[in-house]
Amino acid sequence: MESYDVTIIGAGVVGCAVAREASRLSLRIAVLEKELDVACGNSSRNTGMLHAGFTYAPGSLKAACAVEGNQEFDQVAEELDVPFKRTGKLVVGFDEKDEANILKFKRIGEINGVKGMEMIDRKQMDAIDPNAGGSFAMYVPSSGILDPMQYTIALAENACKNGVSFRFGHRVERIDRLEDGWMIHTSQGDVRTKWVINCAGMYASQISAMLGYPDYPVRGFKGEYYVLDKKAGRNMPIPIYPAPNEKGGFATHATPTIDGNVLIGPDSYLTDDFEDYKVTKEHMDGLYRDGLKMFKEMKREYFIRNFAGIRWKIYDPATGENKDFVLESDDANPFTVNLVGIESPGITCALPLARRAVAILREKEQPAPNPDFNPRREGIRRFSEMSLAEKEAAVAADPNYGEIICRCETVTRAEILKAIHNPLGVHTVTGIKNRTRATMGRCQGGYCETRITQMIEEELGILETEVRYSKAGSYMFTGKVR
Ligand SMILES: Cc1cc2nc3c(=O)[nH]c(=O)nc-3n(C[C@H](O)[C@H](O)[C@H](O)COP(=O)(O)OP(=O)(O)OC[C@H]3O[C@@H](n4cnc5c(N)ncnc54)[C@H](O)[C@@H]3O)c2cc1C
Repeated sequence: MESYDVTIIGAGVVGCAVAREASRLSLRIAVLEKELDVACGNSSRNTGMLHAGFTYAPGSLKAACAVEGNQEFDQVAEELDVPFKRTGKLVVGFDEKDEANILKFKRIGEINGVKGMEMIDRKQMDAIDPNAGGSFAMYVPSSGILDPMQYTIALAENACKNGVSFRFGHRVERIDRLEDGWMIHTSQGDVRTKWVINCAGMYASQISAMLGYPDYPVRGFKGEYYVLDKKAGRNMPIPIYPAPNEKGGFATHATPTIDGNVLIGPDSYLTDDFEDYKVTKEHMDGLYRDGLKMFKEMKREYFIRNFAGIRWKIYDPATGENKDFVLESDDANPFTVNLVGIESPGITCALPLARRAVAILREKEQPAPNPDFNPRREGIRRFSEMSLAEKEAAVAADPNYGEIICRCETVTRAEILKAIHNPLGVHTVTGIKNRTRATMGRCQGGYCETRITQMIEEELGILETEVRYSKAGSYMFTGKVR
């Protein structure tokens, strides 16, 4: 039976951030994840904004972690070798009500410590982005954009290199208390551990109850998105958000992605299905209508894909009010840290939350530092982003850089090979996609997907019938026809 000092449940951005922070200490650490890769939950189903922190209640954990996470991110991105742009953000208004709401949250932002926010008029907006809708705006310089999947992968790879074991396909089904820790029963056997850190995202309330904490009431706010082609991205230098409502919520916004596409969305409606990620025509039509108000250059011909995510908020059934993030450790449930309700801005807050979670464990256990901890991690260098001279040098050093596998995104065989041999041992097609962008272009994998599956077979020495697309059971082929 496997045995650890610390077991983290869930390999979303929060679990991977906790793993990375815990790997600074001399401890045996594992992450249990029910899916076959990191970032298979909402950590891959979001806008990828590094939020500034102006819509969260002063004094809340959300506000503190958002401002802290925002301010430190240039250094984090550099250490983990992940792309990041501090684009700023325009929060645009059309009328007096919008102006009142924007000013209300500007004041809240100032209390929270958000720097540099300023009101600007249409002429100043035009200088920043003539395609932004609205008559006036608040300019928020500290907002930024990142790739949430690359970020989660980077946190996990760094944790892994620093000694953390990742166990994919391990669904936690029951947890029993022992005298000196916990026995975790998973879909692939039992794991004994002293500490448990609950980072199970949408299922965090269920794990919370297994550990003796409340089964916190949650409700899901589903949001659908359109992904627009990079042609649209050329006309969008900065995220454009509508004025928040009185509670700080935003309707459909338009956001450039770090790779040059544009996201329109999310909208927001209630769901009680934990993993209902289907998209609907009704909502796509709504996104087009509302998206046009933010991004005047929006055209239907730019649409290449859609997806959905669900913000699981904990709330008070008596008042109906949404609540702050929960981060707790109760001696009645010894050796546990319970993180529940980590909805937006969980990407921005992941490392600050992780530091707080690990501080609890450090205080109780006082473990020695990990003498080999290295905060740095190297990502897969993109051929498409190299200069001509760099491309020539790359091909000379490794001829696999001379073969393009994904034509839309210019991804080479060398990059796919690096992704197949990733440190976490992830072997799905979406795993390759999330690490390289192959299949993410205009043709959405029509050209390269079969070539990638063939490379997976050859490199791993497996049969075509064993290649999986993303989830357990998502086998792609039943055999060869010729
Ligand atoms: C539409 C939308 C837009 C958002 N936009 C932003 C944004 O722009 N900026 C920002 O900062 N935040 C944003 N967020 C919030 C952010 O995406 C989440 O807060 C964050 O991804 C939560 O990470 P997590 O690790 O807690 O959860 P998840 O990513 O859901 O990870 C939880 C993991 O636990 C695993 N798991 C669950 N149960 C078990 C079990 N029993 N056994 C084993 N594994 C289990 C799941 O498979 C999953 O991989 C957005 C969220 C949504 C939905």
